[in-house]
Amino acid sequence: MKFSFTKMIKCEFCGKRSAITKLRYMNKFVCGSCLTKIVDKRVSRNIRRNKLLDKEDRIAVAVSGGKDSTLSLYKIAEYRDKIPGLETIAISIDEGIKGYRDKALAIVKKNVKKLKIEHKIYSLKKEFGITIDQIKTNGPYSTCTYCGILRRRLLNKKARELGCNKLATGHNLDDESQSILMNIIRGDLKTMARLGPKSPKAKDLVQRIKILREVPEKEIALYCMINKINCFFGQCPYATGLRIFIREKLNEIERYRPGSKFSILRGIDPLLPTIRKMVKIKVYRCKICGEPSSKPICKVCFLLKHLSA
Ligand code: SF4
Ligand code: ZN
Ligand code: ZN
Repeated sequence: MKFSFTKMIKCEFCGKRSAITKLRYMNKFVCGSCLTKIVDKRVSRNIRRNKLLDKEDRIAVAVSGGKDSTLSLYKIAEYRDKIPGLETIAISIDEGIKGYRDKALAIVKKNVKKLKIEHKIYSLKKEFGITIDQIKTNGPYSTCTYCGILRRRLLNKKARELGCNKLATGHNLDDESQSILMNIIRGDLKTMARLGPKSPKAKDLVQRIKILREVPEKEIALYCMINKINCFFGQCPYATGLRIFIREKLNEIERYRPGSKFSILRGIDPLLPTIRKMVKIKVYRCKICGEPSSKPICKVCFLLKHLSA
């Protein structure tokens, strides 16, 4: 990829005339090499401050093939090489979205081979008897609701069965700030309590860690291009719902007031321990499938029942 203003504008970090973009929240132009350093620093600070990785960890890395999960995989592979004892395994979920997930998974296979990471692929079809392409939504739940809930279940179950104590996801700053706003709009403190760099520990729920949580989505895309990390940039044909709406509005807010996405995290993170104490998350065993759940019947069983009705 050629960057449009290369060799014209000075990088305000190193002084070279090779800026590729402007970090509007800092009001500074930056070159590819300085951007790489900034992202690396932010990731390692998040890992260190929040104790996301430990030498005794066996980490399942959820990898879809998109830029975020691919970068998360590359970064965790770097730590695996630096921290003796740290084990990693990549897990992908095939939701059954033709022309989208199949293309992304082909890229994942190349990356895991390059990084020498064991890779497991699990399909919604095999586990739940249905693909996302087969779901016809005409009720209150969007395709993304089905997809997200089924995928999260399968990731947790398989990570647990593989003996992993942590599950790394590719959530970035944009995803996290969107989730915070969505939970405020829905008044959903229970889901809010599970946000943050790592989820609270609970029996049979593998702890989730988000090493890219403080990196804006745009910087992840640039990082992958600059550092020639092969990832899939396609758009899912089913992307709809509240998150897409919030994403657009949040980008508008960010344009109007650069740094807003960081401010949302800074505003909510100190409150998370209090929210967790307030809502006291109770973990039930689903009466149908036996998996951990926030209600006596889990969301997966509820949705599958809704589909068959
Ligand atoms: Fe699934 Fe929605 Fe994401 Fe597509 S956009 S992969 S349907 S959650
Ligand atoms: Zn520079
Ligand atoms: Zn269930």
